[in-house]
Amino acid sequence: MADIIQLLPDSIANQIAAGEVIQRPASVIKELMENAIDAGADIIQVIIKDAGKTLMQVIDNGSGMSETDARISFERHATSKIRTANDLFHIQTKGFRGEALASIAAIAHVEMITKTGEQDLGAQLIMEGSTLVKQTYCQAATGTRISVKNLFYNVPARRKFLKSDTVELKHLTDEFMRIVLAHPQIKFSLHHNDREMYHLNGGNLVQRISGLFGKQFSSKLMPVLENADAVHISGLIGKPELSRKARNHQYLFVNQRFIKNNYLSHAVRFAYENTIPGDEYPPYFLFLEIDPEKIDVNIHPTKQEIKFEDEKLIYNYLRVTVRQALGKFSNTPLLDIETNTSFEQMIQLSRQNRTIESDSRPPHPSGGGTANNDWELLYKDLWRDKSDPVTELISESGLNLESFEKSSPDLIGKTIDNEDYEAMNLPVQIHQSYILSQIKSGFILIDQKSAHERILYEKYLSAMENAKIPSQQELFPISLEMNPEKAAVLLELLPKMNALGFIIEEFGRNGFIIKGMPVGLETNSNPQDLILHIIDSYTDNLEFQLGIHENLARSFAVNAAVKRGKKLTAEDMLLLIDELFACENPYNSPIGRKCFITYDLNEITRKFAGSSRI
Ligand code: ADP
Ligand code: MG
Repeated sequence: MADIIQLLPDSIANQIAAGEVIQRPASVIKELMENAIDAGADIIQVIIKDAGKTLMQVIDNGSGMSETDARISFERHATSKIRTANDLFHIQTKGFRGEALASIAAIAHVEMITKTGEQDLGAQLIMEGSTLVKQTYCQAATGTRISVKNLFYNVPARRKFLKSDTVELKHLTDEFMRIVLAHPQIKFSLHHNDREMYHLNGGNLVQRISGLFGKQFSSKLMPVLENADAVHISGLIGKPELSRKARNHQYLFVNQRFIKNNYLSHAVRFAYENTIPGDEYPPYFLFLEIDPEKIDVNIHPTKQEIKFEDEKLIYNYLRVTVRQALGKFSNTPLLDIETNTSFEQMIQLSRQNRTIESDSRPPHPSGGGTANNDWELLYKDLWRDKSDPVTELISESGLNLESFEKSSPDLIGKTIDNEDYEAMNLPVQIHQSYILSQIKSGFILIDQKSAHERILYEKYLSAMENAKIPSQQELFPISLEMNPEKAAVLLELLPKMNALGFIIEEFGRNGFIIKGMPVGLETNSNPQDLILHIIDSYTDNLEFQLGIHENLARSFAVNAAVKRGKKLTAEDMLLLIDELFACENPYNSPIGRKCFITYDLNEITRKFAGSSRI
């Protein structure tokens, strides 16, 4: 047989590599912004058209490149950042694999204009599908400007796979935020379709967060600091009142690189145990500094995942440090951004606030067996693990939920009818989360929150399609400040929101005035928070491509429903049961959780009989 193996041409190899590095417009922005940072820029502008599908441009005032370097930078494995394999373990830059520019040039039209400080003229290069189509000299400022047009023009499958502009823009701004948060000292701006979405001056971390998410938000953050040998932890965490249903604003950086790590996120969430509701998540902006030799950033093409030498140790430090900050700062006055408190000053503040008790921490946990025990003792003592109410419920009752979990489809209308209501004992609330109610064939256990979500969801859907929900005027109009991204979403939703009973008006740039709220909301709900939560949920749901009505009804229902942990009167419970079984689909909450589970009497009788020894 003839030899059949051939080396792939560079253009194809680059396209294959591009598949790993560049998944969507957001990946391009990430790579280009990181290159600008690596080039030492302190001003970086990002310009986008049509969520990056038409144009993405990054302009920096960094080192620039010579014309030869500019040409080579588009080759695969062309990098100025590492030279030997050993360098891989001392990486100080964002990039090092030398594949980003080659990948981007393989799947888009790219123009680069770049000039170093020493040169008078800059170089202009135009690349199309890995081929250099033009190279000339041109007038240019020191730095680099890269424009990427028609992403995936030659990979139709990929182009088709791109989501709507709203979704792609969300990915883009997510990526933008991760980078600008890690580099608060750099000035950044982001333009989308000629509108300036963000204009962020260089400053400290609080100022950066304030520029992104508003002053209201940043004023409710607390500093965190831990200076251990194994890991240096600093940053800001949200006061419990900032916790939300969605995992928004959770940022973990290792050596200034944003990473995704469920295990470490859990450490932070765990530290908040018992300070926030079980289904909410705190915002945090945490920066870990770890010796580069103790981590491997080269396990993932986009470097969002990294490997730690001792992840458990980092977990422990993170959890203890966050828990301590929570204890110390929950009642401390707000961090003052106006007086330009530097991040270092905040850390000082955090040091001063440490009590003797927290300084007498156990020694380094990896320093021998006894130390390890001390460490664990400290945990047990301070944060006794609490199991969740469901598990407690099961273990207390000795019930095996699994075998009961089949709900009888003919329950509605048949089992619960008027006669039964009369025969029924009053429902009982368990752990302020579940409602136990007797039915003819046994009993049902209703999850109060999921059930209420279902009720509200159907009500809101019909309100948007049929009749408006009446409003209750606010005595004093409330102002609402938002970041541009959220403001754009709210603006788009205003007519629908107003059909749901809100009275919200646009007020200035990214501002709104709340003049009224829908009737029937829980009295203690804070209008600003509720609206912000709705916008957050709505944005998160965009991924699922629901219709506007469905998404908004879902987002509103999830945030307005009665919480687990809320005591209900017998009257509340009866009403809730009534309304649930009047729903078109009483079985599941809008996000797909079960609303109730039925327990069959025969099954229960059999269980008891099974336990008899005679
Ligand atoms: P990497 O960042 O992994 O080295 P890239 O493909 O992203 O690989 O970039 C290749 C090289 O091009 C970089 O190592 C750097 O020397 C140069 N480069 C890329 N972007 C810029 C820029 N904005 N300013 C200066 N040099 C740049
Ligand atoms: Mg790079």
